[in-house]
Amino acid sequence: MLHNSKIPLQFSVMEKDIDITKAARQHLEMEEFFTGGFTIRAKTSEPKLQQRDNAASANAVAGLEKIADEVRQCRKCDLGSLRTNAVPGEGNPNARILFVGEGPGADEDAQGRPFVGRAGKLLDKIIAACGLKRSDVFIANIVKCRPPENREPRADEIINCFPYLQKQIEIINPEVIVALGAPATRTLLNINKAIGQLRGQFHEYYAGLGSTPIKLMPTYHTAYLLRNYSEENRRRVWEDMKKVLAELGLPIPEHGNK
Ligand code: SF4
Ligand code: URA
Repeated sequence: MLHNSKIPLQFSVMEKDIDITKAARQHLEMEEFFTGGFTIRAKTSEPKLQQRDNAASANAVAGLEKIADEVRQCRKCDLGSLRTNAVPGEGNPNARILFVGEGPGADEDAQGRPFVGRAGKLLDKIIAACGLKRSDVFIANIVKCRPPENREPRADEIINCFPYLQKQIEIINPEVIVALGAPATRTLLNINKAIGQLRGQFHEYYAGLGSTPIKLMPTYHTAYLLRNYSEENRRRVWEDMKKVLAELGLPIPEHGNK
């Protein structure tokens, strides 16, 4: 009786063990989804930067440095007096992809650099999963100073700050902008829709009359993704990034067998 009653118990434990193993393996696979656990099957020899001559590159570097200096001295909105460091943005002046976030958080405010906290680490993984390096792309934000308690930037703050990003876009002239989350997407597209309705397809960013539109892919912000770390959401972001890579003619790394 004792023996018999043990068998189903043992069995159910074993079943549970199998379930746990399966769940753990699935989790591991999803971890690899954004942690570089990919086999890059395609060649990676395609250029990941726009082709600019030395003079044009030097001009872009100087132009971006000038904007960064202005940002570091800016007091156009209330956020200027609350910051430790302004976060102008950083990356390759010849980047083909520009990522735009919402605004600096605590880690970014402390270091003066964009996407260096937890959300930034996840962005690093996404960039790596794309077969790219952080130094291939440019990363900036809608507002350059940290909103208190990480609240969303207010309209007046965005209105004051947006011209800096507009100038950065003009100089970098990326082929694709990846807008991370609703505030970045809504600001860049001048549209007021939910991110869920906007992501997954290309939109166009217009710098102004007569300028050539730039392809814009909205996707979930990595901070949102961290809070809602489902397989479905990660897969959606990956689908969005695959479209960006395809648009640029870059190889799409495939999930490895391991
Ligand atoms: Fe200036 Fe932008 Fe900082 Fe406001 S958030 S002070 S507009 S740099
Ligand atoms: N979130 C953002 O939107 N921007 C950063 O730079 C960091 C976190």
